[in-house]
Amino acid sequence: MIKLTRPLIEETDLAAVRAALESGYLVQGPRVAEFEAQLAAYTGMQHAVALNSCTSALHLALLVLGTGPGDLVVLTAYSFTATANVVELCGARPVFVDLDQTSNMAPAALRARLAELKAAGTLSRVKAIMPVHTFGQMADMAGIGAIAAEAGIPVVEDAACALGATFNGRAAGSMGAMGCFSFHPRKTLTTGEGGAVVTNDAALAKQLRVLRNHGIDTDGGTTDFVRPGYNYRLTEFQAAFGLVQLAKLNQAIAARRRAAARYDALLAGGPAQAPVIAAGRDSVYQSYVVLLPKTTAGVRDAVIKGMRGREVEATIGTWHIPMTTFYRETYGYRPGDFPQTDATFAQSITLPLYEHITEAEQQQVVAALLAAMADAGLVNVTTTR
Ligand SMILES: *Cc1c(COP(=O)(O)O)cnc(C)c1O
Repeated sequence: MIKLTRPLIEETDLAAVRAALESGYLVQGPRVAEFEAQLAAYTGMQHAVALNSCTSALHLALLVLGTGPGDLVVLTAYSFTATANVVELCGARPVFVDLDQTSNMAPAALRARLAELKAAGTLSRVKAIMPVHTFGQMADMAGIGAIAAEAGIPVVEDAACALGATFNGRAAGSMGAMGCFSFHPRKTLTTGEGGAVVTNDAALAKQLRVLRNHGIDTDGGTTDFVRPGYNYRLTEFQAAFGLVQLAKLNQAIAARRRAAARYDALLAGGPAQAPVIAAGRDSVYQSYVVLLPKTTAGVRDAVIKGMRGREVEATIGTWHIPMTTFYRETYGYRPGDFPQTDATFAQSITLPLYEHITEAEQQQVVAALLAAMADAGLVNVTTTR
């Protein structure tokens, strides 16, 4: 079976984790501080706060902006559900926005949504706009940033999948008030579980540090509990692992881009569409997601099953959050409320991609995709080799 992803763990990773364990200092110590310093440098930001997941990062980012009951957060409809769940965890309500052709939040749809909120008199309740850099390609941060600035609303980037991606040369996570990263094994850099927030705002960074550690404030040399906080800390052995991963991140991203270019070539002229990457954006290809032709419900799942039957692990792109049970039942969403998300969700399939995937494996993946598409009745299938 060709797996969706396989983290590359080498002797240097193992040695770093071993040294951290042998140090006897296991949680949030010097290795976490060094990992934060390196993350800040990598993204060109002044502060990085390491956490135990990106879900924690997003949750704290919203909390330090004062998000609470009665507030609204505007976010993309197409993401892993954590992006919306953190809004609910703050007691606030998510307001979803439809997609553009890159599977990211569409600036035009954002503008229309904010106009609706303004007309309803609720625009002042919006605490944040949260674009997601879907599959490792940044959203249109120029368009989104301009609309957010005009409305006076801070942007929190869900850059879970996008460490190392750029938009007109600017780093993912560096274009809003805060940028949030994930180090889950499905992401380009992993620490097992892990996450971080980067920001240039010292006051926000301080509140993030207080909230991740039980509400403890150590400024002034004493330990004081200033507000109820969480335990969202990263361990030393995860940070040690992360430091080694970060040192080879650019190499890993380059390998992913080469593999993505090979897929692009194998798919060219065929019935499955390669990912649309907009001009000025460098994707890190956290996932390589193809689009099936416009088709009826159920076909995508048949293709995924057909690929698995051919020893190739494939999966959906990501989630249509308003159509998941909790959000659909809580807010009464229906098909058609987010037409582009409906289409993207129904047509997307993630292909295996990892930095050491071989050309032969990629050929097998594309052959399995085309055969499964033919079996599912997606005709006019022509092989590309
Ligand atoms: C993976 C992911 C998350 C959650 O990250 P964790 O580190 O697993 O909590 C949030 N948002 C997006 C877009 C993701 O892909």
